[in-house]
Amino acid sequence: MAQIMDGKALSNKILNDIKEKTRLLKTKPGLCVILVGNNPASQIYVKNKEKQAQNAGFNSTVYKLSENTGKDELLNLINSLNNDDAADGILLQLPLPKHLNPYDFLDKIDPKKDVDGFHPINAGKLMLNENPYSIPCTPKGILALLDEYKIRIEGANAVVLGRSNIVGKPLAQLLLNKNATVTMAHSKTKNLSEITKQADILISATGCPDIITKDMVKEGAVVIDVGIIRDDNGKLRGDVDFNNVKEIAGFITPVPGGVGPMTIASLIQNTYNLHIFKE
Ligand code: NAP
Repeated sequence: MAQIMDGKALSNKILNDIKEKTRLLKTKPGLCVILVGNNPASQIYVKNKEKQAQNAGFNSTVYKLSENTGKDELLNLINSLNNDDAADGILLQLPLPKHLNPYDFLDKIDPKKDVDGFHPINAGKLMLNENPYSIPCTPKGILALLDEYKIRIEGANAVVLGRSNIVGKPLAQLLLNKNATVTMAHSKTKNLSEITKQADILISATGCPDIITKDMVKEGAVVIDVGIIRDDNGKLRGDVDFNNVKEIAGFITPVPGGVGPMTIASLIQNTYNLHIFKE
């Protein structure tokens, strides 16, 4: 039976640590979150980010813009935050409404304030293994979880299912930087279960419920579930058939309570680090 990797407990530990360190600062870290439109999931995520930033003792500001916000208005806000000394971290909540292309904005955020690590300079630094100003929050949180449970990355076969710019790609790069042998899989991958069965560390980030079943997992593997799917009853579930996969895996993250809380903890860590870097 797999050991459960408790992301909630580790995130609480990280958040408490940051709160203590923030208490000793002369000026407080400032997190600015920009929310455009009415996406219900984004509204919940932003509320949670604001709450955790406030709990940590940060100054937290949410800029709520209407669904029909124009490109210039959003660019002007980003520009003013780039020039605002109190704004250490700027986060543009995705997805944006359909008429706005995120890549028209993500590279306008000052890379030294890019708390999500999505700016091309930070993505490039990650690729070059050269200390980005920020590492994307979900991959960073997963690495912290692997570290907490003393999972050996060097030399491990790591399979990352999903190749998004916010999760799959930076995660694969981080694992490669830590000397794993990394395979990336996606919706066009053939013979998926043959690949996943080779994984010592299997990370799924697709948003497809139960895409990872017991027969796809090697005995003793570490299984990390990034997926967040709300079922018809409003209950959260992940990519992994948790109840069956836990019978065979060595370690496994639950949903909720696994990767989700680690993402928020990483955001708070990133904001703190950007503030300290500026000092
Ligand atoms: P995304 O941009 O939609 O990417 C999904 C990836 O999964 C794509 O690369 C896609 O392949 C692949 N995929 C989709 N269906 C597949 C299939 N049947 N077989 C194999 N691969 C398949 O998603 P994302 O933003 O990375 O998010 C993924 C999931 O993680 C979502 O449920 C999201 O809510 C969740 N999430 C959770 C956290 C957290 O904190 N826990 C943070 C971020 C995201 P193609 O590239 O070929 O289309």
